[in-house]
Amino acid sequence: MKVTLQHLTKTYPSRNKKQPQEVVAVNDFTFEIPDGKLIGLLGPSGCGKSTTLNLLSGLQKPTGGRIFFGDDDVTDLPPEHRGVGLVFQNYALYPHLTVKQNITFPLENRKGKDKLTRQQMSDMALEAAKLVQIDTLMDRKPSELSGGQQQRVAIARALVKMPRVLLLDEPLSNLDARLRLQTREEIRRIQRSTGITTVFVTHDQEEAMSISDLIVVMKDGVVQQTGRPQEVYDSPANLFVAKFLGNPPINVFDGSVKGQVLYIGEEAVLEVPGVEDQSVTAAVRPEGFVLSDTGALTCSLTGVEVMGRDISVISTHPNSRNAAIRSIIAAENAVRDAETVRFDLKKNKVFLFRREDGARILF
Ligand code: ADP
Ligand code: MG
Repeated sequence: MKVTLQHLTKTYPSRNKKQPQEVVAVNDFTFEIPDGKLIGLLGPSGCGKSTTLNLLSGLQKPTGGRIFFGDDDVTDLPPEHRGVGLVFQNYALYPHLTVKQNITFPLENRKGKDKLTRQQMSDMALEAAKLVQIDTLMDRKPSELSGGQQQRVAIARALVKMPRVLLLDEPLSNLDARLRLQTREEIRRIQRSTGITTVFVTHDQEEAMSISDLIVVMKDGVVQQTGRPQEVYDSPANLFVAKFLGNPPINVFDGSVKGQVLYIGEEAVLEVPGVEDQSVTAAVRPEGFVLSDTGALTCSLTGVEVMGRDISVISTHPNSRNAAIRSIIAAENAVRDAETVRFDLKKNKVFLFRREDGARILF
């Protein structure tokens, strides 16, 4: 099911008398989610992710704009008629019901020709439970399950109706690191095998990057960039996106361009053809540094962390906006014990942004 958002906007009235302006939680969001894809909706806390999801589910009404499922305008349709499956961070299971009863719950109150027999409901619940591998736990109560198992029950309950659209709001946040990894791979597998169009909300860039077909990066209710995860990583539209994606984070410097050359401090570090003379923000991915005795950028060495395959060189520079510059170097490059370390920069790992608003300057 293709899902289309057209100029979707949601404002909340201000609750603060001193600041009467309303909160624009979602601001003119236009996007087409292709049929059968998994979209990662990504951004910091408060950027409007949950509000967007609630608009898609029908739990909230937009202030402006339209939502289409396929060719159907569902903007005014109540949640129960949209055919969406919802999963939240807190599993929201009914504690007094068994796993099986929790999963069949959305099927219980169907009326008329849609009414299901006990056997049909039971079969559907078992099928959904198998998808998330909890079919042996059907008679337990939620309190008898681990957090990971509870979240699987919640996913099974969302899947049992075979929804047209699956909406997941930070579904892994309550799980420990290992389970988070495992469950996200499972969500990906289930999404692929069922082909259900899915929106996966997270503030965790790595999570979004690893499972999404497309990511949407939001800030303050405004979409900053959409694209395939690698595309967005390799070509961020602005400084916010560059800083939000990547771990270790991108290294940000105050720089200047003179005569189509990028300077950091007094050092000429990179040719930037076509860029006019100006003060810029220069950002370098950790993997964009090449260790070299004659390197263009001289930094003060503070430490080296060996991480097996790679080493992480930690250094400082007066023009760096990060307290520490982190560069990832292949382990065969020995770092000499010295006070300074020099780097050449890989051109495709360096991005320039306008100093005043962080917009990308291409070169
Ligand atoms: P996210 O899920 O990305 O953390 P939300 O969609 O929950 O963000 O919130 C977006 C913005 O809208 C925030 O500034 C939040 O404080 C505000 N907000 C959310 N719900 C309400 C509400 N019911 N009333 C007023 N403001 C709200
Ligand atoms: Mg949220």
